[in-house]
Order: sequence, then C-alpha cells, then structure tokens
Amino acid sequence: MSLFVSMHVDCPECDHTNTMDAVGSVNADRRPDLREDILEDRFQIIKCANCDTEFRLQPEFNYLDVENGLWILAMPADGVADYIENEDKTTALFGTSYGADAPDAAQTVGDNLTCRLTFGWLAAREKLVLRIAGLDDIIVEMMKMDLLRRMPGAHFDIGVELRVTSVSDENLELAWVRADSEEALEFMAVSKEAYFSVENARDQWGGIEAQLTDGPFVDIQKLFLGGGRNQDAAE
Ligand SMILES: [Zn+2]
Repeated sequence: MSLFVSMHVDCPECDHTNTMDAVGSVNADRRPDLREDILEDRFQIIKCANCDTEFRLQPEFNYLDVENGLWILAMPADGVADYIENEDKTTALFGTSYGADAPDAAQTVGDNLTCRLTFGWLAAREKLVLRIAGLDDIIVEMMKMDLLRRMPGAHFDIGVELRVTSVSDENLELAWVRADSEEALEFMAVSKEAYFSVENARDQWGGIEAQLTDGPFVDIQKLFLGGGRNQDAAE
C-alpha cells in the first residue's frame, strides 16, 4: 500500500507552517496515478496556505513498482554526501522487505525487482523513465561517463547532475540540472547509438561497472565523491 503521514512544513517564502500529507511509501502497481505524478514532476508539491507560493517537499520514501521491476529508496538531494551509509541502509531495508531477510512470498516478488537508491526527485524519476523505456541504467551511467570525457567544460559539479528526462525512438533527452531545486541549466539529446555502442563495448567498462554497482546507488556521481568503498583498502 501507499503510505502518507501528516507533516508540518514551513514555507520557504513566508515561513508559514503548512500541514501536508508527506509520502512514506508508494505502491505504483496499486496507485499508478502516483507513478504518473512522479513522471510529470508534480508529486509532493504544496501551495502555501498563506502566500500561495508553490514548493516541493524533498523525496523521502520507498517506491515499489512490480510492473516495471523496480524498487527505489528515494532520498533528499543532500543525502548524496553520505551515500555509502545510505546505500547500506537501502540494502538492509530492501533485504527485510523483498530480499534474503523477507518472508518467502515477498522474496518471490523481490526476485524480479532491481533495488536502487536515488537522491532528489529527478534522479528517482530518471530510474523510472529508463525502466519504462527498457534501458539499463548501468549502461546509461557509463554512457554519461563517456559523454563527460568528450565534453571539456561540462557542468558537472557538486549538486549539478546530468539526468535523462525522456527517451524517444531515436534519442535519449538529457538535462543538466540542480539536484535540489530541479532547475534545468542545459538540455542535450544523445542518439541511442551512443547507448548501444557502450553496451556493445561493455567488457571494456569492467572497472567502472564494478564501482557503479558496488551498492544500490548506481550513479556516476559516486565516482567523483571520494574514494568510495575501497578507500580504506587503498590507503
Ligand atoms: Zn508562504
């Protein structure tokens, strides 16, 4: 089931305390309207009762989508700084919900679920967009890496991310976005050929793929955030 909890949130504009239903978990199979709200970037937006300013609550919920074979722990954008700790939390939560520590019936469901951790709305949305388009998010992250290598002066910076926003027959549409405000800085279209060429050369990406998949946060940002899980071993 999908779960909401009543929560007090202060308006960023006038400080008025609003009460809203904050989501704790989404079951997209039972509530496809919530899946649609995430895809349309309108989920968990609140209008201040005092000044009419619209603002969005940062994501902090788990997302179950059996139809698309996806389970996500969606966390606030700033959680990325502690991604390793959050990966461990995600792995444990998935384990008791649908993994090795879950009841048999739940494990059967879990066999068809990919477990992911995301930070910010657009990162969660991206995982969903890729699943629906039938694309492998690991390949997409490696494709982004490939793009960055070819683009000196790219926007890549702490808090600025390259996100897939949609997929058409020919292209992947991407945007450079600010993770917290969702502000788009620049758009680009990349031919699906770029995706397939990375997929075809997957064996050359072994080292990067191993790093990307050493936890449920499958995102090239982890390659830029410190030494990762092997930091201690490397020192
Ligand atoms: Zn207000």
